[in-house]
Amino acid sequence: MRDCGGCTACCWSMGVASLTPPFESCRHIDGRGCLIYDTKPEDCTKFRCLWLDDVDMPDEARPDLIGVIFYLIVDPVDGSDHLAARSSAPGGIQRTSAQTLIEIASRRMEVSIVHDDAVTMRKVGPIEV
Ligand code: SF4
Ligand code: SF4
Repeated sequence: MRDCGGCTACCWSMGVASLTPPFESCRHIDGRGCLIYDTKPEDCTKFRCLWLDDVDMPDEARPDLIGVIFYLIVDPVDGSDHLAARSSAPGGIQRTSAQTLIEIASRRMEVSIVHDDAVTMRKVGPIEV
């Protein structure tokens, strides 16, 4: 299991409901990281991107390095898991590194893609191979 290291991508991308909207820097972050680390909201504590736990993902796929955060979301209707791919930096999801990993993931399962305009969302895959 990994740790976040220098990555703070979800503090920009995810938007903790009580703090900031998605795709804006949380007001509690600066260049040193989270300023309220010991008392941060439960949402922050609970969120784990796929890269932290998936040993098959390469180290270089850390979200702040590739432009995309992968994470699992649970379908509220049937309880099934879905893969989401969310921009981890302005324009991040358009990077070749992000597009390549999304394409690979979409061969196996449907991927919900969230661009950083917070509006554009589309689903891709699985692709017939
Ligand atoms: S995106 Fe993942 S690795 Fe980066 S700070 Fe969030 S949980 Fe940690
Ligand atoms: S409170 Fe801390 S951990 Fe949570 S989003 Fe803000 S900077 Fe990140």
